[in-house]
Amino acid sequence: MPIVPAGSKVLVTGANGFVAAWVIRMLLEKEYKVRGTVRSEGKGVYLKKIFAEYGNNFELVVVEDITKDGAFDNAIEGVDAIAHTASPFQLVADDPQELITPAVNGTVSIIKSALTASNLKRFILLSSTAAVISLLPDPKPFTESDWNDQSIEDVKANGTKANQVNKYCASKTLAEKAAWELYNANKTKISWDLVALNPPYIFGPIIHEVSSPAALNTSTGDWYNSVVRPDMGGKSLDQITLVGNAWVDIRDVALAHVLALQKEEAGGERLIILEGDFSYQEFIDAANALDPTPIPSHTDLPKGSPGKKGKPIFPYDASKAPKILGPELVYHTKEETTKEMLADFERRCW
Ligand code: NDP
Repeated sequence: MPIVPAGSKVLVTGANGFVAAWVIRMLLEKEYKVRGTVRSEGKGVYLKKIFAEYGNNFELVVVEDITKDGAFDNAIEGVDAIAHTASPFQLVADDPQELITPAVNGTVSIIKSALTASNLKRFILLSSTAAVISLLPDPKPFTESDWNDQSIEDVKANGTKANQVNKYCASKTLAEKAAWELYNANKTKISWDLVALNPPYIFGPIIHEVSSPAALNTSTGDWYNSVVRPDMGGKSLDQITLVGNAWVDIRDVALAHVLALQKEEAGGERLIILEGDFSYQEFIDAANALDPTPIPSHTDLPKGSPGKKGKPIFPYDASKAPKILGPELVYHTKEETTKEMLADFERRCW
């Protein structure tokens, strides 16, 4: 018996974001009820349109300022589970507090509200591998027992002058640490348990409201600016061929949320959710191998340096999540994701 079975109500924060919109769609498809939070009525209009077919199973509430104490008190009423995704994902910020304050205070605020809930069974925090990794000269594979203290130290020591990526990584690490701290201090008194999902770069087709490629979220925008229009992103061939990182498809992240509600064993765990490593060149090669290309308007797709693959900076051992979440979680391949992203961009004439 799943710990949070179909038919239960799930609160999803930051409903209008790239990841959250897919999480909501997956939950609704699996017959959950969803209450989403957005920062203003206007940010919910498009969502109401795309999820209209689910009738009363989908509702929205406005939480204007997630960092305020008690901000979520009303929103959590009557929900069986929470998926907290609302948090800034930008790799550009002058003051690191622009990212850290909403990430940490938003997480603390919703967990404090959750501590008062009586029927809540599970809290899923959408963290990131940003909270796991560190830049090391010769790293061994990162696992769920690793924490990115390096980014926190950089931000503490250098403030606005800290490395841009470290500012974001520190926001995710501090938010996840705050969540575990509050949970561990209270777990004997509450009805729910905490699961942290830690994905790396998430790619895939988009279903939330985006007006132009320039308005894409950070991860899909980076993919677009590398695979479709490197001229727009100002990327050099070396950045495209040599920069290696890890990735996962958005549909797999959404499904991982559903499975994390259903598997008892996920309670109290951090789970790294990833397909594997990538260089953008591999996505470019996958795009150019498609026949016919789903982007006829971009017959001039960049070629880069076919076959070249950078060394991933961050190796992972991501074997824990599939063991806990089970065989339903089958990660999309680069070829599948590439085909569907290009088809999505083509439909939008991008
Ligand atoms: P989006 O930018 O598409 O969505 C971010 C969401 O968070 C939006 O709903 C946004 O609301 C909300 N948000 C941002 N800042 C604030 C704030 N100050 N106060 C309240 N809400 C805020 O990004 P993603 O969907 O990509 O990211 C969502 C989550 O997933 C983040 O926590 C991110 O760290 C995590 N993640 C994303 C990865 C990726 O590759 N995309 C990888 C790993 C983790 P609004 O529109 O009102 O600003």
